Amino acid sequence: MRKVAIYGKGGIGKSTTTQNTVAGLAEMGRKVMVVGCDPKADSTRLLLGGLAQKSVLDTLREEGEDVELEDIRKAGYGETWCVESGGPEPGVGCAGRGIITSINMLEALGAYEESEGLDYAFYDVLGDVVCGGFAMPIRDGKAEEIYIVCSGEMMAMYAANNICKGIMKYAQSGSVRLGGLICNSRNVDNEKEMIEELARKLGTQMIYFVPRDNDVQRAEINRKTVIEWNGACQQADEYRGLAKAIDENEMFVIPTPLEIEQLEQLLLDFGLLEEA
Ligand code: ADP
Ligand code: MG
Repeated sequence: MRKVAIYGKGGIGKSTTTQNTVAGLAEMGRKVMVVGCDPKADSTRLLLGGLAQKSVLDTLREEGEDVELEDIRKAGYGETWCVESGGPEPGVGCAGRGIITSINMLEALGAYEESEGLDYAFYDVLGDVVCGGFAMPIRDGKAEEIYIVCSGEMMAMYAANNICKGIMKYAQSGSVRLGGLICNSRNVDNEKEMIEELARKLGTQMIYFVPRDNDVQRAEINRKTVIEWNGACQQADEYRGLAKAIDENEMFVIPTPLEIEQLEQLLLDFGLLEEA
């Protein structure tokens, strides 16, 4: 089983990209479990058709320790399993802890056993920081393969670089590796070339360039992944392409993060910043 975590700046498209890609993997016959690691608990909405799913932490709070697997995972599109770890009550406690509680609970209940036949577990992890609770999946070896969603916008690239610093830190003592950057386009000038170059400098690859397309919103309003909503459209093929690229990926590295000056130079080189 491959244990994949998706990181990236907030709002960059982690949950959207994860679910659409997972739909592509499911279509290829892969058995996938998605674990949402964001207190927003919106990591599985498109796979579940919008069904409100009770989070693991809510279930634990309401039902105590006497929890069964079917209480915390729901079947979604393409025979996927969907889990939302949930978060603490607002303002109380560490949101990251929910992730590890959930993964431990899933382990204890046998969700990762061979008999479950999982090919992939995907962790959709909140935020741009790989510190504290949100580093848990990679720190504790729960996720071994990381993809970073980014775009050509400076803050998305800055976040990607920071996440690489976190991965580098944990990779030295553990088995976590970077599988690549997923460029989720914001239609920035020279975006594809720039992210390819950023990836090269980080010692990794741009594994796929996902175009920006309003069909993503159209599918989202219908509470579906693009593949389920309209499998014949171009964007559905893009997500199939990303799914195939991940399925066939063999490039797993310890990244080499950039200095901030190098990052700024990259933006200058690709014509995005005017020198004063
Ligand atoms: P994150 O999980 O990183 O916070 P989301 O997946 O919730 O981000 O994405 C934020 C919004 O961006 C979503 O509402 C989605 O409709 C939109 N979006 C993501 N990717 C694309 C894309 N390739 N084309 C158009 N819209 C997109
Ligand atoms: Mg999200």
